[in-house]
Amino acid sequence: MDVFTPAQRSEIMSRIRSVGTVPEERLAELARVVLGGRRKLLRNAATVEGTPDIVVPSLRLCLFADGCFFHGCPSHCRMPSTNQEYWRQKIQRNQRRDRRVNRALRRQGYSVWRFWEHELKPAGVEAAAKRLRRALHRSVERAAEGAAQR
Ligand SMILES: [Zn+2]
Repeated sequence: MDVFTPAQRSEIMSRIRSVGTVPEERLAELARVVLGGRRKLLRNAATVEGTPDIVVPSLRLCLFADGCFFHGCPSHCRMPSTNQEYWRQKIQRNQRRDRRVNRALRRQGYSVWRFWEHELKPAGVEAAAKRLRRALHRSVERAAEGAAQR
């Protein structure tokens, strides 16, 4: 299930390249490919806690694209040479807010998946697409279980 056909792979690659370098744009494009237009997507859903980059309301699924610097990616976050204390505190605040938002959303019955900026670059995008597909499958199953219990 986690394997893409060559055609799907090349579609993913070309669409990711076409939307430029903004992580949120890449994640949205990836979500469009993986969802195949079958479900409604909300971008920057301000009515949902933490304003997720993407919400799939029918699956109660929230997706975030986290910048490697501002969200403190363990592999890529490098402190600038000046104002280090300022940046360190700012990034810590962002990370605390991310955790708080994750918890709040989960309490509200959402599943939350975060993608690093680096995962959405062309070199990593196939793995990101697989993760996204997994997120989707799990959310579909959860939605079905929820419906069965009602
Ligand atoms: Zn990174």
